[in-house]
Amino acid sequence: MAIELKRIMSLNESSPRCPSCGNAGKPVKVATLHSLLLPEKRDHIVNQGYYFCSSAECDTVYFTDNREHSFVKSELTVRVGVKENTSPRPVCYCFNHTVEEINEEITRTGKSSVIDDIKEHMKKEGCSCETKNPQGSCCLKTVENYVQEALVRYRSKPTR
Ligand SMILES: [Zn+2]
Repeated sequence: MAIELKRIMSLNESSPRCPSCGNAGKPVKVATLHSLLLPEKRDHIVNQGYYFCSSAECDTVYFTDNREHSFVKSELTVRVGVKENTSPRPVCYCFNHTVEEINEEITRTGKSSVIDDIKEHMKKEGCSCETKNPQGSCCLKTVENYVQEALVRYRSKPTR
C-alpha cells in the first residue's frame, strides 16, 4: 500500500499531465517533433521539454513541461495509430505495420508474426523510431499490446 502510493506520487512528479485529458505524458525528444510536425508548425516548437499523450480519446499529441503549449493530431504529417479508431491505424512506422494487418492475420491464422518480423528487420536494418514513430520510442511495446488484445479477442470467440 505504502509502496503503491509512493509509486503513484513519483509518477505524478516526473510526468506532467496532458492539459486536455489529464493523462500522464511520456517524455519525447524534440527531434521527433521536428520530423513529424507539418513544416509550417515546426516554428511553433518552444524551448521546453515535450511529452506525448497516449490517450486514445484525446486530440492532443504533444505538450510541454509547463502545459502551456501543445500540438494536436491534425498538426502531424502521420496518423497516430494509438489515437485513431478508423483504419489505417499505423503502429510500426519503420516497417509499416498497422492494427488492421495484425487483426487480419490473427483472424486468418490464429497467430501473429508481426513481432518476429519487426525484430528481424531491426537486426538487419535497425530502426528509426525516434524520427518516424510519433511516440519517439521503439514501437515494440505498443505492437505487443495490440497483438495481445487481438489474441484475446480471437480466443474468446466461440469455435464452430
Ligand atoms: Zn491527452
